[in-house]
Amino acid sequence: MSDLKLPTRAEDFSEWYNQLVLRAELADYAPVRGCMIVRPYGWALWENITAALDSRFKATGHVNAAFPLLIPKSFIEKEKSHVEGFSPELAVVTHGGGEKLEEPLVIRPTSETIIGHAYAKWIQSYRDLPVLINQWNSVVRWELRTKLFLRTLEFFWQEGHTAHATAEEAEAETRQMLDVYTDFAVREAAVPVIPGKKSAAERFAGADQTYSIEAMMGDGKALQAGTSHNLGQNFAKAFEIRYLDNTGVLQHCWTTSWGLSTRFVGAIIMVHGDDQGLILPPRLAPHQLVIVPIYKSDDEKIAVLEAARKIRAELIAAGIRVKMDERDGLSPGFKFNDWEMRGVPLRIELGPKDVAKASVVLARRDKPGKEGKSFVPQAGIAGAVSALLNEVQQALFDRALAFRKSNTAEPSDYNEFKLAVEKGFAFSWWCGSGDCEEKIKAETKATMRCIPLEQPGGAGNCIFCAKPSQEKAIFARAY
Ligand SMILES: [Zn+2]
Repeated sequence: MSDLKLPTRAEDFSEWYNQLVLRAELADYAPVRGCMIVRPYGWALWENITAALDSRFKATGHVNAAFPLLIPKSFIEKEKSHVEGFSPELAVVTHGGGEKLEEPLVIRPTSETIIGHAYAKWIQSYRDLPVLINQWNSVVRWELRTKLFLRTLEFFWQEGHTAHATAEEAEAETRQMLDVYTDFAVREAAVPVIPGKKSAAERFAGADQTYSIEAMMGDGKALQAGTSHNLGQNFAKAFEIRYLDNTGVLQHCWTTSWGLSTRFVGAIIMVHGDDQGLILPPRLAPHQLVIVPIYKSDDEKIAVLEAARKIRAELIAAGIRVKMDERDGLSPGFKFNDWEMRGVPLRIELGPKDVAKASVVLARRDKPGKEGKSFVPQAGIAGAVSALLNEVQQALFDRALAFRKSNTAEPSDYNEFKLAVEKGFAFSWWCGSGDCEEKIKAETKATMRCIPLEQPGGAGNCIFCAKPSQEKAIFARAY
């Protein structure tokens, strides 16, 4: 906590982000390079994310379990493209209890292999299918360039792993979980996302098909905010996950995996934040409202705090997450700035005059100054606050969507394309060739983010090679 101003987003978006994460007390650097300490305020935000996702997973028939952190190194090597993809990022344990291990152990970078091993034991018959398991855990990937929440050596996430009898069921599951992520992002985080299909180059190591949700950050860059993979029979074959079908024939299963991580916290920061700091979506904010009592004399303090506590109790009873800022020796102005920086959606200012009038000042974080302030009677305060929280939630989504639309171009030629990806997304015809994708990346730093599921139809010419193309893709520079 300090009075120093953040750099503006226009000056230095990256530094604005770094300082904000530290100053808002979301996370801190760890003694090991690239690791992250998630502080209580950041963890509370993550807990609300996990609760919103977990209830959706359970509503779609999934159950939670826990698999081990340590994986025999030979497991990772069983699926060819999986090992190629993950080898450079593995952390390997070679010693235990002071002895060199016979077989090195890998700290899980993801759990397809160890879960595949277990599924091979558990699944025998078509009656055992589908298996729909999720786990909440952390994984380690030895990343070279790191940034708090966005890319850290260890990160927190959920990984869902399912096994099915048919290819169609596995594809339906993959798409269902992409829909779950989309619904979560839009309704809970007020983050507009584009669900789509990844290119072969951007696919998960060992997947037949990867889908993702892509969001536009406040600097126009893209962030992959969640992924869902159709693993085909690749892991089923590597780990012998088989079942007897209803005619008595032994078949390999079809598996999927899907994950959303603490990266999403980074998305929330970069989609909604402004030059004053965080703006948290009400449905996920650790504190939805902060009460700042204002007083000078002891008599005023007694009266104001009494009224403030009554309001707090009413709001809590209505299920609203409330913080009362009773810190001594700090001016109301300081507290306003502090909670604005930390992104609390609503603020109640309560002074002796408000107590006398039985009203409060209710201020919105997303609308600074007078425009966002209103006088609200203390009677029926919970209803007024609930309604305003919904309004803020919707306003954040609308603003983020309008921003994305105004920074998404449909360039008519490659020169326009190059300008478009300087400031945002380019939505362009693409022939599907990895060669075009690679050259575009080399020349513009923009990657193929996804082929959106929602397509305009018809056909056009590839933005790079001009060959006939059936699909349009989102290209952007990305985190
Ligand atoms: Zn092309």
